[in-house]
Amino acid sequence: MEIYLARRPMDAWRIADEHKRKHSKPVKITILQVRDEKLAEELESALKARAIEKRCPNCNNQLWLISEDCFFCPRCRLYYIPSQDAIYYRLGDVIKQRTPAGPVDEVIEGFDDLLRKNCGFRGLNPVQERALREIIRKIEDGHTRGIIALPTGTGKTVLAACLLRWILARSEELRGACILFLAPRLVILKQVATIMDMAGICATGFHKVFRDLPITLCPLTEDVYPYEKGEELLSLLKFNRPHSLCVIAITPQLLWAIHKDSKKWRRLLRNMSRVKVIIMDDVHHTYNGEASQDVVREVIDNVEYVIGLSATPTNEAVANVGGLLTCRPIEEAMRLGVLVKGIKFCVYDTEVEKRGIRKPFDEWKVCIRRRARQYAEKIIKTIDEIRKSTDRDRVPKTAVACPNIKEANILYEILREKLGEENVHIAHYKSQEIGERDPAEIISRFRKRKGGVLISVSMIDIGFDDRDLEVLVLARPIRNPISYVQLVGRVLRTPSEETRAWNVKSRLGYCVVVDLTSSLYRLVGENNLQGFFELSESIMKGLEKAKKFEDDLRGDKRKDREIPEVDANVRVTHIKTQLVRPKPILCPNCRRYVYPEYRDVEKVCPECGFVFSPRPRY
Ligand SMILES: [Zn+2]
Ligand SMILES: [Zn+2]
Repeated sequence: MEIYLARRPMDAWRIADEHKRKHSKPVKITILQVRDEKLAEELESALKARAIEKRCPNCNNQLWLISEDCFFCPRCRLYYIPSQDAIYYRLGDVIKQRTPAGPVDEVIEGFDDLLRKNCGFRGLNPVQERALREIIRKIEDGHTRGIIALPTGTGKTVLAACLLRWILARSEELRGACILFLAPRLVILKQVATIMDMAGICATGFHKVFRDLPITLCPLTEDVYPYEKGEELLSLLKFNRPHSLCVIAITPQLLWAIHKDSKKWRRLLRNMSRVKVIIMDDVHHTYNGEASQDVVREVIDNVEYVIGLSATPTNEAVANVGGLLTCRPIEEAMRLGVLVKGIKFCVYDTEVEKRGIRKPFDEWKVCIRRRARQYAEKIIKTIDEIRKSTDRDRVPKTAVACPNIKEANILYEILREKLGEENVHIAHYKSQEIGERDPAEIISRFRKRKGGVLISVSMIDIGFDDRDLEVLVLARPIRNPISYVQLVGRVLRTPSEETRAWNVKSRLGYCVVVDLTSSLYRLVGENNLQGFFELSESIMKGLEKAKKFEDDLRGDKRKDREIPEVDANVRVTHIKTQLVRPKPILCPNCRRYVYPEYRDVEKVCPECGFVFSPRPRY
């Protein structure tokens, strides 16, 4: 493999032409457009590090790299898998013969093995396993459209990759087919495909599942295609790649943009029949507005398999895409040890009483200095309690959702003074105005830290996703149940391996949710914190209407000067603190109710050592 760097697209084409003329035999030329200089350097060194020359076992010709463990000889037209020294002559054969098939038990076992080999995982986790079993059964019964409901942090992207592989392997004809992966947030799109993946290096967990298959990834993201993404999508859909199958990763927003041009839209629809599978991530998100709903329907109409993914599928999503292929509730994932084992809810009530004569106001659409001060006190109290019970001085990783940026800025100042500047950070879309960095950078720095408080308004909108988060503080009312479950989902993931030593979630076995406005009481009724599980399950089953959950999740988007500051008395009173855990299960051996533990690969009763499942794993 030879690598050239060009400054302008024109130069790239010229180099490509010269290179082609130099060689008498067919050559594979990939032109990647990289906007960022640093990224270009990274890509170059990554490619050089892996550009070990592979020779065709048949003719000794240099092979083309398709994926990390899959090469192609243009002369013999054969596929070569170096790790197993295997040769195939047809695209369909590589995929079919290398993918687990047959009875569901064998499929599960096959994917366990595949994930170990390709991704270095321990296999499917128990939530993924249960989900995959159920989905396979449904698809075999003829349900080729539907939604996979899995809690945040249980590995739905990798599950989707396994499922996609299984679907492709059972398809009759694969020549000329392609796959569309839609994700409304760029953060997610980057977890599926980056420019590295486009060059044949398996960088994402999603791509690694396909490491040994002739599958190429084409992410149409900002850093890969800053311009003309629509045209690029149309040509990817139109032109056939003879030697590989293409997964095109785009945002649904790109579809809305193409839809505005009726000529382009017709071109798109003409080629949609080539799309074998559509995966729609975050299917509860932007797909279901009145206008976008029709666009989605037109697109998915001619596609054989349509799979939606979500942690909170809505009623509308179910109506547009299809029923549930599987639904694994949060409670189950917690019991199985795939999520944190417990949630400590600390519920407070906030009362606001205006001072002086004023016309009535919505207390959550204004900034109240006394409220910020009171909230700071409660946050510090929570932090101190955790410090005491873990016997450590560290500030636990805490995220705070504020009512608006003005109050967020005040809370930021107070907490900095009390906890030290190095321990308090702020990220909202205007945080640059108060001399802070770009929110994305603050978030990525926060992720690398061992502790500290991150203050924001919207949290999810700005792409906050940190599995080591220990405490979530809701400093504004969350009225929509979907938003509530989405937000709490941020803190339920099990901590990463490297942080186990200090993370509260592994040391105490639970995360902490401080609900300062008694939102949970309003959603599930008073004194019923265990009701969180029922609420989240009914949402995961797609029973709740979305209504305006997106606004609720995002919070107040107004600028600082548009938010009035109001003088008011604020009383924040503690109502209840309770550790909520999934219901324990009955051990058939010692007849006690226990929370099973996962020791290496076995699910074990902690009381008597009884091994639960007949085919233990994970
Ligand atoms: Zn050959
Ligand atoms: Zn037992």
